Amino acid sequence: MTAFPIFDGHNDVLLRLLPKGGGAARAFVAGDGEGHLDLPRMRKGGFAGGLFAVFLPSPDFGHVDHLMRQATYDVPLPLPLDPAAARPVAEAMAAILFRIEREAAGAVRICRTAAEIRQSIRDGVLATVLHFEGAEAIDTSLDALEVWHAAGLRSLGLVWSRPTAFGHGVPFRYPSSPDTGDGLTEAGVRLVRACNEKRILVDLSHLNEKGFWDVARISDAPLVATHSNAHALSPHARNLTDDQLAAIRESRGMVGVNFATSFIRPDGRMDAATPLDQLLRHFDHLVEKVGIDGVGFGSDFDGATVPDEIQDVTGLPAVVEALRRHGWDEPSLRKLCWENWVSVLERTWGG
Ligand SMILES: [Zn+2]
Repeated sequence: MTAFPIFDGHNDVLLRLLPKGGGAARAFVAGDGEGHLDLPRMRKGGFAGGLFAVFLPSPDFGHVDHLMRQATYDVPLPLPLDPAAARPVAEAMAAILFRIEREAAGAVRICRTAAEIRQSIRDGVLATVLHFEGAEAIDTSLDALEVWHAAGLRSLGLVWSRPTAFGHGVPFRYPSSPDTGDGLTEAGVRLVRACNEKRILVDLSHLNEKGFWDVARISDAPLVATHSNAHALSPHARNLTDDQLAAIRESRGMVGVNFATSFIRPDGRMDAATPLDQLLRHFDHLVEKVGIDGVGFGSDFDGATVPDEIQDVTGLPAVVEALRRHGWDEPSLRKLCWENWVSVLERTWGG
């Protein structure tokens, strides 16, 4: 049996590290043992690489976990962020990733091509990709997109779960269809086209359904949802319907399976006492609908309540072992663990 490297579609470790200011990079590289992710634990868990999110917190979005433990819920959407306030936060979070790369002295690489990711995985170097979870730091003239692309931005979601100048995010609502409002704005259409030109991945997680279909119509790239689950199993607004999964398959796209218990559980509750078996069912359903080449990991580590059996990144081998026991053969596991992610990034970014 092989211990496969894991490439993961989504984490929020930069958000976790943000309050540490000048000590953030050191805390990550040396290992502070907090939250789900730091470099020593990622090595232990076989976390070989992933998309690292720049996520801008909403000042009016407080502690909502207690709401998501109810039988039904509809967390109000936060107000749009003020772009002028968002920009320095995006810079501060991206700066942590650049400082981590320097602090780690060869053990962490910010990758801009699929070849760099493959090389890093071979060398045992943590492969990171700079990703924006929500485009508030991008102005509608798209000047900032030029600058951030030059800095290494290779993946971008138009929205988190709130409106932006580009589109509308889904609320944390259960049960709910993802069809919760209007589609992309005119600026959103231009942003998708600009991402296509620059071959920046457009992430569909958090986007509402009309926005999803707008991107499906406009984009010439594979459709990718970095951290979303199956709506057929857990009817949460954040999850993807079978029609959406069919469109992702059609585009040779990809879904990263989210470990957030509220998107796993059939009852939509945020509850760490969630058996791994319920996570495995999402892998089954997503592979059935998207195909064995279109599913991978999208942990949401440091951004979600994950099942007790996972605990933190050192629980990844337990997930792989559970998948293996569930019947996935070694070639399938290799695809789910990392190959599919690297392949879809290669199709999106070019060779
Ligand atoms: Zn998210």
